[in-house]
Amino acid sequence: MNKFPRSAYVHIPFCHRRCFYCDFAVIPLGNKVETIQGYGSKTVKEYLHFLHKEILSIKHKSPLSTIYIGGGTPSILDPKQIKELIDLFKKNFGIDYGAEITMEVDPASFSQDDLYGFINSGINRFSLGVQSFNSHILQKSGRRHLREDAEKSCLWLKREYDYGFIKSWSLDLIQNLPLSGFKEWQDDLKKAISFSPPHISIYDLNIENGTVFKKLVNLGKLKLPSDEEAFRNSESTHLILKNSGYSRYEISNYCLPNHQSRHNRVYWSGLGWWGFGQGSTSSPWGEKLTRPRVSKEYKEWVIRQNELNLDSSLINKDFVYKELDEKIMLGLRLKEGIDIYEVFKEQNWENKKFESNFSKLLEEWEGFLESGLLVRKGNRFFLSDPKGMELSNQILISMFKWWDKIN
Ligand code: SF4
Repeated sequence: MNKFPRSAYVHIPFCHRRCFYCDFAVIPLGNKVETIQGYGSKTVKEYLHFLHKEILSIKHKSPLSTIYIGGGTPSILDPKQIKELIDLFKKNFGIDYGAEITMEVDPASFSQDDLYGFINSGINRFSLGVQSFNSHILQKSGRRHLREDAEKSCLWLKREYDYGFIKSWSLDLIQNLPLSGFKEWQDDLKKAISFSPPHISIYDLNIENGTVFKKLVNLGKLKLPSDEEAFRNSESTHLILKNSGYSRYEISNYCLPNHQSRHNRVYWSGLGWWGFGQGSTSSPWGEKLTRPRVSKEYKEWVIRQNELNLDSSLINKDFVYKELDEKIMLGLRLKEGIDIYEVFKEQNWENKKFESNFSKLLEEWEGFLESGLLVRKGNRFFLSDPKGMELSNQILISMFKWWDKIN
């Protein structure tokens, strides 16, 4: 077994502007940003300087088998800056032959030449934030791109994939955006499938505090799909994707055979990962460490960590297991679910406590097992698809209630 995490997440916080539903740690730089020279480049270069410093501070490590460059909008960066980042990982960690190296890209934030540059830098998987193909819905959500930008980006990625220049790509959509009724959502799904992306992520819209959408909801000015519409949308997602050969391997993720995201599976399966950049979370040994979300504080944090020797503070001497409730939550998101006996065993409970906690959990889940939302096969529990996956929140809430009671 490898001693050190084999996966790294890198956060690039820059976006052109903030979308109306987004509460991520992002820095909006405007439409005209230039990242090498000109407007905005100083901010970007300064951030990259600290990001590189943070990456270089890790001295005890194993070669990486997955890297994920997320954001924000990483495709705002120039391909040269992406290459420098990947070269830094090669030099400081080493990258396994066949590693999965993913980059998030947003339509209208990169050209076809940029795409060639990203691929030449070593990116072999892309995650394209289409969100919707409907220009009206996109504009109402504060997105910068329009339908034609999304279509163009899909065609470029499809071409690179068909020619074998990249290993995979994901087309990401948001379900239940304002104005996205049954027909609009079906149109989005069908359009997405027409590009045959090997992977599709479907995220449900969440209304987060501090966003434009939250303000509009409070003012009663946001028309979201009703609960019935949302349920019909979910059902059609399941049907349309299933009939097109996609299998749902996680609550929000569908793929054609052999195209699961290896990087995301690391999070869900509870393995450790490095995290770098403003607002990013790492979990090298089970304990999570989140960096400051504000630029100034992040930079001060990097300086402080370097002075304190961050690397030695992260070495596997204070190993803390992921909490059991989090392990169960992550496991249940996956199609194969979770072997409850296996994760219970890691708690080192004596027999009596083990049995008592297990039967209390079964009591909480009795109704879900009877209604078929949750399925048990031996010691393995998993959500039924689509019903259990759609109503996963109820099952998870009951599990958290159980966890609170026994602690
Ligand atoms: S592009 Fe993505 S990260 Fe940037 S503001 Fe929009 S949703 Fe947030």
